[in-house]
Parts: sequence; structure tokens; C-alpha cells
Amino acid sequence: MHRLIDGLHRFRESVFPDRKAFFETLASGQDPDFLFITCCDSRVQPEVVLQANPGDLFILRNIGNLVPPHGADNSVEAAVEYSIRVLGVKHIIVCGHSHCGAMEAVLNPEHLSTLPSVARWLQYADSTRQIIQENYGDLEGEAKLDAAIEINVLVQLEHLMTLPSVAPRLMRGEVNLHGWVYRFETGELSAYDPEANHFVEVEKAHLPSIRPVHSTPASPR
Ligand SMILES: [Zn+2]
Repeated sequence: MHRLIDGLHRFRESVFPDRKAFFETLASGQDPDFLFITCCDSRVQPEVVLQANPGDLFILRNIGNLVPPHGADNSVEAAVEYSIRVLGVKHIIVCGHSHCGAMEAVLNPEHLSTLPSVARWLQYADSTRQIIQENYGDLEGEAKLDAAIEINVLVQLEHLMTLPSVAPRLMRGEVNLHGWVYRFETGELSAYDPEANHFVEVEKAHLPSIRPVHSTPASPR
């Protein structure tokens, strides 16, 4: 614990005084543009990687950066609903990461025999496992895990589209969905590019990133 308390002291002595006025402005409310959904993994630090300030990111973390489909989990759906309807976030980012233990467990569910709660939670990545088994059966080791990490981000974006708080705004173009993967050992960040249909360097990805296929209303005949 000393390490944490020492860190707090350094923050109060070296960081806070220089930005005191900024921190005081935070008391008037929050107005983030981004809902950032990522894994609990301690090696993933969104604010550090993106150099974001307090107030920039509304962050939702859980094991495996999962978004259960509509009606399946109140905690995640409530956070999404609040961020959209109250805070008016413009972008929802689902960010997976390299060496994700959750995705390893999704690929190897036998490792979860002593973790019944984790096993139940990871059912929301069942489609990820199924897609890897059926479509990427030739992959092994790290390549297989990397594919699962990327596919899982796409699966969770599909789940996001099932949420009533998201679907209408997505169709109106008021919110955009983004699928990212952060590789913490290199600092690389890749984003799903729907035109290329794979993950590319985030700077090269086409934006806005994902819309449901029915987002453009059919023209009347
Ligand atoms: Zn993870």
C-alpha cells in the first residue's frame, strides 16, 4: 500500500498544484465525448495511452471488454445508457488488448473450472470462441489469441447495436462505434476498418467506423 500512498503524495505535491484550476473546473460537471469500454487488465491504461484528461473518457471496464446483448446484464447496459442519454457521448470505443487472459480463457474454457463467475461472465464471448473454431481453425498460439482478441471486439460491437439506447442514435448517425486493439508491449493501437474489413493502424482507419447495415433507409420506390 505504501507505493500507492507515496504516489498520492507525489500527485498532490507535483501534479495537482500545477493544474489546480483545471481540476476545479471538473466540479461543475462532466461532458465526455467518448465511452471507452476496455478490459480490467492492469496493463491497459487508457488515459495514459491516449494522453486523456479527467473528464475526457467515460470508462467502463470488465473482464474481456464485453458488452452483453440487450437485457442480459444491467451493469454494462446501464453505463452505456447513461453515457448516451445523459452525457451524450458521440463515440463508443470497444478496446481489446494483446495477451488478454480473458480471451485465452474463452479459447480454453477448461481453465475456468475454479472460476465459475468468470466462466458465466465469459459466456458473452461464446460467439468469439465459435467464430475462431469454425473460421480460424488453422491458427495456433499467439496468432489464434490475436485473432480472438480482434474478433471479440467485433462481437461486442454487434452486441452494442442490440441496445435500445444505442440503435436509434446509431441509425441517425449521432453516435459512432469503434473497435480498437491496444498492444501494450509496443504501444501500438489498431482499429477495425470496415472498408478494409480488418484491423489497421488507428491513424489509417476510415471513420466513422461501424454502422449497422440498415443505417441508410431504403429510398421509397
Ligand atoms: Zn484482458
